Amino acid sequence: MTSALKEGFPSLREDMDRLEKAGRKGGLDIYDYFRTFPDHGEDIIKLWSADLPASPQGIALLLNQLTRMVLEKRRPDAVALIDAEWKKGYCPVCGAFPTIALIEEKITRRWLHCSQCGHDWLFSRVICPYCEHEAQEGMDFFYVENRTQEAAFSCDKCQRYLVTLNRVSDLNDHELDVSALSLTHLDVIMQGKGLTPMVNCSWNVFEG
Ligand SMILES: [Zn+2]
Ligand SMILES: [Zn+2]
Repeated sequence: MTSALKEGFPSLREDMDRLEKAGRKGGLDIYDYFRTFPDHGEDIIKLWSADLPASPQGIALLLNQLTRMVLEKRRPDAVALIDAEWKKGYCPVCGAFPTIALIEEKITRRWLHCSQCGHDWLFSRVICPYCEHEAQEGMDFFYVENRTQEAAFSCDKCQRYLVTLNRVSDLNDHELDVSALSLTHLDVIMQGKGLTPMVNCSWNVFEG
């Protein structure tokens, strides 16, 4: 996996080299991370970052990719156990908040998508997935002019936002991780307004 990341993120090449080396020598115990996940995963990243040394961003990226692989493998078992009436704004499989939402055109229901494990679930359109604030007021949809399918939901109460594909025909027509990447211009705009994404991921955190 490190070779793919080196290709995708040339600036992290050195970090990946060091991680590879440490991994081969047996100096990295990935399970240290999963045992503390998700509450204290950051501590492990800090520890490794100082030990290797490697940038926390590089380590986080690699661990995120590994986490996604593990969770995707386990997802079918978890989904079978979950009550179909899941009413929370965080993912029923892995507990992460969504990275993107999709609103269907005909039945106007909202799907939330988790980029950590790839799960999609239905959620009310008038409740904030992050803080569960429920109101028509105090919630906003931001649109870019002439691009009515691209929107961002935002909540006054928790000051969070969620990029959203609006009025699309079918959930299955979209690769939502790719869509989230293609909507980063909305991340820039929303963060410029002082809002925070519901979840940080490698593409929506901007330096400076
Ligand atoms: Zn998930
Ligand atoms: Zn909220």
